[in-house]
Amino acid sequence: MRAVRVTEEERSKAYAPTKKADVAEKQQLHVRYHVENMDVGDRPRRFLEAFAAILRHSNYRFALDHFIRMSAKCSRCATSCQIYMATGDPDDIPCHRSELLLKVYRRHFTMGGSVRGRLLGTGHLTDEDVERMADSFWNCTACKRCTLECPAGIDHALITHLGRYILSEIGIAPRALVISTREQLEGSTGNTSAIPVPALVDTLEFLEEDMKEEKGVDITFPRDQLGCDWVFFPAVSDYLMEAETLMGIAAVFSVTGDSWTLGTGYFDASN
Ligand code: SF4
Ligand code: SF4
Repeated sequence: MRAVRVTEEERSKAYAPTKKADVAEKQQLHVRYHVENMDVGDRPRRFLEAFAAILRHSNYRFALDHFIRMSAKCSRCATSCQIYMATGDPDDIPCHRSELLLKVYRRHFTMGGSVRGRLLGTGHLTDEDVERMADSFWNCTACKRCTLECPAGIDHALITHLGRYILSEIGIAPRALVISTREQLEGSTGNTSAIPVPALVDTLEFLEEDMKEEKGVDITFPRDQLGCDWVFFPAVSDYLMEAETLMGIAAVFSVTGDSWTLGTGYFDASN
């Protein structure tokens, strides 16, 4: 079968925004996840050392070896990413973001890339490369919509996770994320918003009253029930900022009649 190459014109058409220019400008979100602590010395060397250590102690290599060989440059990942749709920033196109890390892997951790790079004297990881990765990797929600669309099976969320892992190892990570993750994993409350259990119970009782007032139905939020069909782990924001989500879940369970419960021992499933 003859291979059909995508022309430049076809590619730029595929990446072109689907909205009219003035609408896109009005709706565009100019947001980046802010990384405060970029002031790390000798970033390229430390980045490569952390990358090498992670490769030694994990099985990322299998995936990366597959990803560097595959790309149809079809742009389906771009059209499925809600972050790129919102920001319109080319750095938020999933395959562009992944390529930031894949090119480091290709150049520094594969035989062919290393030999070619040394012969030509090109492709060294620079300070700007590390900065660009730090600016881009925290902008992805790791939802994997783009992966579902990718005919080559490239897992951009996994690449993003790896990029963040390496950056975190050298001390480059958004402070809010570090604090909330530490609280979830090691803190006394065990959740990203540091809500103590009594406050959670209060909130659930308040939501029950709210459901009664608003919908006129008796719906409860069961806690720590044994032998239920379902244990539900919402993100902690569902108790406070987006309580409608949790209320909707409770309403659905009430209609289906399934038994379900929340658990006060581990009530935050933020990833
Ligand atoms: S995983 Fe990241 S890049 Fe892919 S669709 Fe979700 S936000 Fe976009
Ligand atoms: S969907 Fe997959 S193959 Fe297509 S451009 Fe994106 S990463 Fe490449």
